[in-house]
This record gives sequence, structure tokens and C-alpha cells, in this order.
Amino acid sequence: MVKYKAEYIWIDGSQPTAKLRSKTKILTVGTEPPVWGFDGSSTNQAPGSSSDCVLNPVFVCPDPIRGEEHKLVLCEVLNLDMSPHATNARRACIEAAERFADHGSLFGIEQEYTFFQGNRPLGWPETGFPAPQGGYYCGVGADEIFGRDIVEDHTDACIAAGLAIAGINAEVMIGQWEYQIGPLGPVETSDQIWVSRWLLYRIAEDYNVTATLNPKPVQGDWNGAGAHTNFSTREMRESYDAIIKACEALGAKRELHMESYGAGIKDRLTGEHETQRWDEFSFGDSDRGASIRIPWHCVVDRKGYLEDRRPNANMDPYLVTRLMVETCCGAFE
Ligand code: ADP
Ligand code: MN
Ligand code: MN
Ligand code: MN
Repeated sequence: MVKYKAEYIWIDGSQPTAKLRSKTKILTVGTEPPVWGFDGSSTNQAPGSSSDCVLNPVFVCPDPIRGEEHKLVLCEVLNLDMSPHATNARRACIEAAERFADHGSLFGIEQEYTFFQGNRPLGWPETGFPAPQGGYYCGVGADEIFGRDIVEDHTDACIAAGLAIAGINAEVMIGQWEYQIGPLGPVETSDQIWVSRWLLYRIAEDYNVTATLNPKPVQGDWNGAGAHTNFSTREMRESYDAIIKACEALGAKRELHMESYGAGIKDRLTGEHETQRWDEFSFGDSDRGASIRIPWHCVVDRKGYLEDRRPNANMDPYLVTRLMVETCCGAFE
């Protein structure tokens, strides 16, 4: 094959939650994806009078949908003078990762999401309500599981793209699922979360289903969708005391973190449905009602990592991982 398709993917300027955009460039096999551009006036990233923005490739992987030599090209957005665009949260994440590189920060993110068909979750009956929550989490059978074909396709695609997908499971609410990416450094985990999200939307598209990261897709007695963020540093992988120190540092900066953990966070962190309230802070061993949970095997081993349960499914991983590195590694210095 002489030519390949490079799918340029970027994060737009939609408020309050950014969306993914992508377009295709045809390139000659053997050449790397070059810098490209787009119309920022159509993505809330530039005024119409001066609409050009720059796409700078930052993470390239095989395109598991088109196969062969085709590629996915995650880009950061730059201004025309090559400075980072106001919507580019990746640069600050890199700066924090480099500043605190000695601490060896690792992240594993549990990305939850919900399939929708029309105006209701996949599996929701046309009239009335489905059976209440209880049997759907890690369930099996046509009365409990909806969208497994899409989930399997997405998982295979993540593996074929070379992403560090660590697992998948059906979630507590009907039509809700989770996959995990990591453990990797802050920038690598975040890049891969964004690419995996794009793959999820793209693959669900072929099934005429939408995947949403809405943190509270159904009001009432239904679980929201989060992005539990598992985090460790070298110190924490060696000592339980360091895990506690990191928890305390996160508690001291509760408000700062709340502002950056995803739009609509107060709707999800109600204190119900395996969450701590957004305006309270707690950490505990194996406690799924705490802001931060220390997994039981880390309690037994007296070392390991913590799980920040607060980030919403719709959070920006560049923001969340940067803040956690700054807050926790800052406390270790
Ligand atoms: P849960 O019990 O909360 O559902 P999961 O198995 O879904 O947990 O997710 C745990 C995540 O923690 C995985 O993505 C895994 O890669 C990640 N993880 C494991 N060890 C570490 C570590 N030392 N530092 C950061 N993340 C880690
Ligand atoms: Mn999980
Ligand atoms: Mn989960
Ligand atoms: Mn979890």
C-alpha cells in the first residue's frame, strides 16, 4: 500500500466539557504525520476572523478500525505562533510530570461510561422502568447485560492500538460499563484515556449507539459514572505511611481538586451510590463511601497506591493527573 490514512484526533473548546474531534489526512507510507491545522471557529477555539489553529501530533498508534498501515494521531492544539492554545491542558501536565519526575508517579484510571440509544440507556424499556440496580454489576445474561458486543470490539481495538487497557466490567447501572487504562505515567495515561474514548465513540457509532461520559445520566436511585483515579509514587509503593501522607495532602486541597474533577460533580458526589459528598472529605481502608479508598491488598502489604474515587467520568485526565502529582508529590518534598 502506498498511502495510509492518519486520523488526527484533538480536544476541542466545548464548555463546560470538551469534546473530541477528528479528521483524516492521507499520507505516504513511511512518512510521519506532520503538523496540520483546523478551523477553530467551528470548535469554540478561535474567532471566525482568525480561525486557524494548529494540530501538533503527540501520540501516534496503529488504527485498529481501519487496520493495515493506518494510524490514529492524537494531537495537542497550538496557536499559530506554536504556543499552547488555551484549551491545551497537556502542556501543564507535562510540566508537572517533569518537575516531579523523581517520584515516579503512576496512574490507573477506571473509565466508566453509559450506552444510550435514543433518549434512554441501552436496555431501558420503552415504557416504565427496568429492574432496580443490584444484578447488573458484572452480570451475565440478556436480561442484565446490554452492549457487550460493543464492549468486546472496543477492548480488542484498544489492545490492537497498543493501549494499556487493564480490564473491563459491566457496571451497577443498566447499560453502564467500565474499562481501566494503566498503570502508566500521568501524560501517558491521559493520552491513552483520550484515544480510548475516541475509539469508544467511534465503535459505538457503527452500532447506532452513543456512549456518554455524563456523570449522572439518570437521576434518582441509579449510580453515576466516575473515573476512579488510582495513583502511586515511588514512596507510596514502598510505604503505607506515604499513602496516608498523600491522602492527607489531597484532603487539605479538597476545594481545588473539586473544581477540576469534571462538570456536574455535585450531581454525582451526593454521598449515596458509593460516593462521599462533594463537600466532605474522608479516606479509608477498603471504604467505597470515602473520597479516597486504600485498596485492601495495599493495607495488607503496607504499601501500594490509593484510589481517588471523586473524579467524574467526564473529567479531563490531563487536569486530574496534574493536580494529583502537584498535590501529592508536593507533600513529599
Ligand atoms: P476497583 O477495585 O476500584 O474496581 P480496578 O481493578 O477497576 O479497581 O482498577 C484498579 C486500577 O489500579 C487498575 O487500572 C490498575 O492498573 C491500577 N493500579 C494498580 N497498581 C497501581 C499502582 N501502583 N499505581 C497506580 N495505579 C495502579
Ligand atoms: Mn473498577
Ligand atoms: Mn467502577
Ligand atoms: Mn474503583
